[in-house]
Amino acid sequence: MMGHASNGVVLVSLAGRSARTRFFLRWWHVVLHVAKMRTAAILLGLAVWLTATTGQPAPRPVTGRRFVVALDPGHGGSNTGCHGHRVEEKELTLRLAIELRDELARRLPRAQVVLTRVGDDTMTLAERTATANRVGADVLLSIHANASMAHDQTGFETFVLAPEIAEFDATAGQGRGREVGAVERSSPVGAMLRELEYQTNRRRAAELATSIQRQQAVRFPARANRGVRPGPFDVLMGAAMPAVLTEVGFLDHREEGADLMRPDVQAQIVDGLAEALVEYYRNLVRTD
Ligand SMILES: [Zn+2]
Repeated sequence: MMGHASNGVVLVSLAGRSARTRFFLRWWHVVLHVAKMRTAAILLGLAVWLTATTGQPAPRPVTGRRFVVALDPGHGGSNTGCHGHRVEEKELTLRLAIELRDELARRLPRAQVVLTRVGDDTMTLAERTATANRVGADVLLSIHANASMAHDQTGFETFVLAPEIAEFDATAGQGRGREVGAVERSSPVGAMLRELEYQTNRRRAAELATSIQRQQAVRFPARANRGVRPGPFDVLMGAAMPAVLTEVGFLDHREEGADLMRPDVQAQIVDGLAEALVEYYRNLVRTD
């Protein structure tokens, strides 16, 4: 019997065969054809099954650009921060920072997220900034909760280390005279950094702060948006990258303080911060 293989199917000449042999060969040809299709179907099914069982959730398109985020949970250790009814600021900031780290791992799988503290550690502000500098962070986000003298203030606000930030928010500095005045102390920082880098960092920090406020405003339309403000915070000074400090709400306010303890509210805050950082990353990629 003459025959040859082509594409996995044996081709057989039917010429000169008996009727019975021709019938058998035709039948055999059909069997081979069906077997080939069945094999293809099995392989296709296997591929679909493997994809379905081993495939990860489709990640957002991420370029190969390195992206390092430094998250700073405010206070810690003997420095408790302000007090809520059932929680100290240092506990809330660490909880939010850890949640945010995990959320960023989901949204930006290739990003590296570094926390300035992962436990109840007493740290100086300089140590926090030094950590961000050491890992070459692209951005530093310090997370805090607020308090007011009369326990009557509410809302969320984000600070940047930039005297000119007033142009982003006409109400900048309102009720913050002491801190705004202290911005003067930041001038040596500008002298230390190269002017171009300083300008870029300042612009990017302002963009991130604006984005954080916008994301929180979308999620909490009933709460006060206190805007982007200039701050003299030491943790922002000496940072070699864009740095912002966000106050997620007033922990000492009777209602807002209680809200800040709710897991669903915390999840919303984290979601807004994550979205702002993803937006920041996209802007970095676009302008690189
Ligand atoms: Zn604080």
